[in-house]
Amino acid sequence: MRWVVVATSAGIVACAYGYMRHLKKVKAAARRAEMMLAEKGGPPAAEKLIPYSKQSVDEEDIAEVAKCLREPFLTTGPRVTKFEQAVAEYVHAAHGVACTSATAALHMAVAAAGISAGDEVIVSNMTFAASSNAVLYEGGTVVFADIDEATLNIDVTKVESLITPRTKAIIAVDLCGQPVNLTALLEISRRHGLVLIEDASHAIGATYDGKMIGSIADMTVFSFHPVKNMTTGEGGMLVTNNEAYAAKARSFRSHGIDLDFRKRQAQAVPHRYDMNALGYNYRLTDIQCALGLAQLKKLDFFIKRRQEVAAFYDREFAKDAAIVPVVDLPNVTNAHHLYVICLRLDLLTCDRDVFFKALRAENLGVNVHYMPVHYHSYYRDVLGFASTVCPTSCKMYDRIISLPCFPQMTEVDQLDVIHAVRKVAAAYKR
Ligand SMILES: *Cc1c(COP(=O)(O)O)cnc(C)c1O
Repeated sequence: MRWVVVATSAGIVACAYGYMRHLKKVKAAARRAEMMLAEKGGPPAAEKLIPYSKQSVDEEDIAEVAKCLREPFLTTGPRVTKFEQAVAEYVHAAHGVACTSATAALHMAVAAAGISAGDEVIVSNMTFAASSNAVLYEGGTVVFADIDEATLNIDVTKVESLITPRTKAIIAVDLCGQPVNLTALLEISRRHGLVLIEDASHAIGATYDGKMIGSIADMTVFSFHPVKNMTTGEGGMLVTNNEAYAAKARSFRSHGIDLDFRKRQAQAVPHRYDMNALGYNYRLTDIQCALGLAQLKKLDFFIKRRQEVAAFYDREFAKDAAIVPVVDLPNVTNAHHLYVICLRLDLLTCDRDVFFKALRAENLGVNVHYMPVHYHSYYRDVLGFASTVCPTSCKMYDRIISLPCFPQMTEVDQLDVIHAVRKVAAAYKR
């Protein structure tokens, strides 16, 4: 009897041991399969494509737009002024001039600064082409400034050497939503009599030394494209504390027509208006401003969510030697339109593009922000920029990838992104 018990127990132990070994093997196989790159036939890290950014539009937004459509003004109506005032108030600026895009806002800023043929404007090199195109629209000359390796923002130590007697302005870009070094740029601008234009297309809601972005530079530009921090479909705004710039931008936005003239003449000859400068039609509609007003109420929440996603990534990627996120400076809050990682190529056997394609196969809608502007064929072939300008920008371009970062990302989405990046980094570990 006792013998039987012992034999049975031994049998159970052996059986359990065998089963555990089997489980371990199954787990290891599952782990191997899980770590197999999607481009090599493994399961993609994300079930469905996770875009790098996207808009958050809810029923309240839709209702506000519908309400506007039932009212008399579809454009040049009360919602435009209301939206301008609301944004200006939010960013602590005296004036807001709404327009059709940030590109239009940049154009208005360059025109308001009085840039014309022969004038030079220093522009951050790692940006969307619109930042420097705006200078070209007014016949100005673009001078690219190189970037700082840790933040990818304009390197303020290199700006001064680019200033010549023809320099009129600086256009600095708050890349990812992280404000540029405004203290240094303002100091340089004041000393050389330059206009400081901040392309804050990524940075509405960000702060610098505790002050809102939009309240500091001479003129600041925001974008309301759907991928940005808040949206009006297409749309943008110029904000400034300078009344003369605001007035010029307003006129420029609407054909160069003098609105005061119309007011002055309204009594005597109501049909008269005067076009006293060459302008454009860059007006934002009331329909779009209805959406903008509804979105603005949620902007703090959108930014908080983006910051939470970014903070989670920061904590996780601190464990991965080959993945170096863009550094956040202590005196700013980053609005995190983008979350950019820089690859330590010395620790990998692949280049950025191979890494990038592998992430796309994992169902991440990764992107690259940005190719140095002078690499575009228009800048290279038509304007004659040498490939050698801005070496740091070029070096960093070969290493950067923008990961998904937007308000409605779920925890599973975020874990999928981290898993995908780790999987690819492991597969190409040197
Ligand atoms: C998006 C963007 C622009 C242009 O914005 P639009 O509203 O699409 O014209 C300009 N500069 C930067 C840095 C941007 O990211």
